Amino acid sequence: MSVVTRFAPSPTGRLHMGHAFSAIRAHDFARARDGRFLLRIEDIDGTRSRSEHVATIMEDLRWLGLTWDGEVVFQSTRLDVYAAALAQLREMELLYRCYCTRAEIAEALAAPHGAVAAYPGTCRHAPTRDVPHCWRLDMAAAVARCGDLSWTDRGQVVANAALAQGDVVLARKDAPASYHLAVTVDDAAQGVTDVVRGRDLFEATHVHRVLQALLGLPVPGWWHHDLLVGADGMRLAKRHGAPTLAALREAGMDGREVAAKLRAGVV
Ligand code: GLU
Repeated sequence: MSVVTRFAPSPTGRLHMGHAFSAIRAHDFARARDGRFLLRIEDIDGTRSRSEHVATIMEDLRWLGLTWDGEVVFQSTRLDVYAAALAQLREMELLYRCYCTRAEIAEALAAPHGAVAAYPGTCRHAPTRDVPHCWRLDMAAAVARCGDLSWTDRGQVVANAALAQGDVVLARKDAPASYHLAVTVDDAAQGVTDVVRGRDLFEATHVHRVLQALLGLPVPGWWHHDLLVGADGMRLAKRHGAPTLAALREAGMDGREVAAKLRAGVV
């Protein structure tokens, strides 16, 4: 089977070196195997996605010397496909409506706002109300239905541990699909054989593996790469003030040289 990888940025801001590193990893993985490298724009978040970032992303990739195959897929054009997958899961009675606000969840968990912790299941048996809600996956029921699952990371077998991820959101109040649902459906639809992405998404893979099992989708291999860190050991991300690729380009830097340095592990 020929290899297919993808780079799937969310156009919510400009790309930085961490994105470049990830894109290069996925690109080179495919090219080294005579495979295909796809570009998918994950723009389902209508409140945060900006179309002007899309052109910049493409320019950044070209500047780095990366080429992608085929048409660019935009998630915003595939909402009906996600809705169908959601309906399938709803028919399996694995979803429930959740009316909680972020503040209520934080309070129930006694965790600071924005803390990452599994949803406490407050709405799992709540009566149906006619107010805005998201849809959550009843993870315990889903896992019970799937049985033991595993997947591979860098060729090593990983036992699936989705329960710890809790009842994740599959459709949001303000968006008809969540990242988890859209990414799983699209990787299958695009025939992605190898998901090359950052280690920060390792835990999410447990969820994606469950969704694949429930929806009867093919299972790719995963290759979570280490995150790019600067000389101070800090993760290179925008919030640490790392320059964007666009800024480096505008400053006259040679993108292919930047890519060569990233490949050599020199940042
Ligand atoms: N859209 C996600 C992000 O920008 C990446 C999705 C993925 O690689 O699975 O973080």
